[in-house]
Amino acid sequence: MDGKQHRLFIIGVSVGPVAGLVVAMTLLWNRAFGLSDLVSLVVMYAVAGIGISTGFHRLLAHRSFKTHRPVRDALAVAGTVAGQGPAIIWAAHHRRHHRMSDREGDPHSPYFYGGHGRIAVLRGLWHAHLGWLLDENLSSDPIRYCPDLVRDRHLRWISEHFVLIMLLGLVAPAGIGFAVSGGEPMAAFTGFVWGGLVRLFLLSHLTYAVNSIGHFAGRRRFSTADESRNIGWLAIPSFGDSWHNNHHAFPRSASHGFRWYEADLSALFIRLLVRTGLAWDPVRIDRDRIELRAAGLSRVGGGRHAPAQPPAPLAERRRTRAAANADPGDIE
Ligand SMILES: [Zn+2]
Ligand SMILES: [Zn+2]
Repeated sequence: MDGKQHRLFIIGVSVGPVAGLVVAMTLLWNRAFGLSDLVSLVVMYAVAGIGISTGFHRLLAHRSFKTHRPVRDALAVAGTVAGQGPAIIWAAHHRRHHRMSDREGDPHSPYFYGGHGRIAVLRGLWHAHLGWLLDENLSSDPIRYCPDLVRDRHLRWISEHFVLIMLLGLVAPAGIGFAVSGGEPMAAFTGFVWGGLVRLFLLSHLTYAVNSIGHFAGRRRFSTADESRNIGWLAIPSFGDSWHNNHHAFPRSASHGFRWYEADLSALFIRLLVRTGLAWDPVRIDRDRIELRAAGLSRVGGGRHAPAQPPAPLAERRRTRAAANADPGDIE
């Protein structure tokens, strides 16, 4: 498989199941899937997705804007509904990812097994997508990576009760379906399936795709020390987080889409919060700075169509536990 075939394969296996699901939803319309299920799916997807992208990622992990405590708590709860683990642990892993991106100690680099050969590439993509979460020895010390979040009593409570909150997020669409239908048990069941389970599946994989495909296939505007990529087709379902090369170039920016056509729903949501006085001080990157950094790319190599090259350190050496204890610095 060459680079282009790999790319087509990855797009196929990631978009294929979603397309199949859309077909199933069409065929099952008004039988095991109806308008209230669709609304439930979209609304719950949006709540959990904004919770992950705006809450966990931009607010907690990167401090891209400031907000009132109740808003921050609400975003942390919404992110917890997505079922991606406790908020503080999520942020610790993510800050570590930025600190050691595609190098030893990165919790989810697709170059974990090196970057050459079909098997190594597929194993690496699986590791970056989901496999890293199955590694029971993996831990990113929250006290080391996000002491600011650990100090917060509310965030600790939300993190400690993440299973309960996630389960409530599964049960809520069932309850709403039951109420809206006037007490039909079948509506409660389909609400649970579509607003709960299917939503959980879709958001998980589309978020994890930023970790796997987002460091493998896509365009590079900026020369960064990692292999981060921008993926246009993932922009809407990832709420803008798939402008991942932009993000690695300017990690604290509240906006991940830098051009008018780079859809970024999280950035729009943050703008709405600022307009309504619920948030302030979003981190904005000067347009000149962005263009200068992008222009510098042509002089230092890489490029918009740069092939995926595994960075040498990770390709040559397996991750060591000691790397996890390195000083995280102030990169978030
Ligand atoms: Zn990344
Ligand atoms: Zn990030």
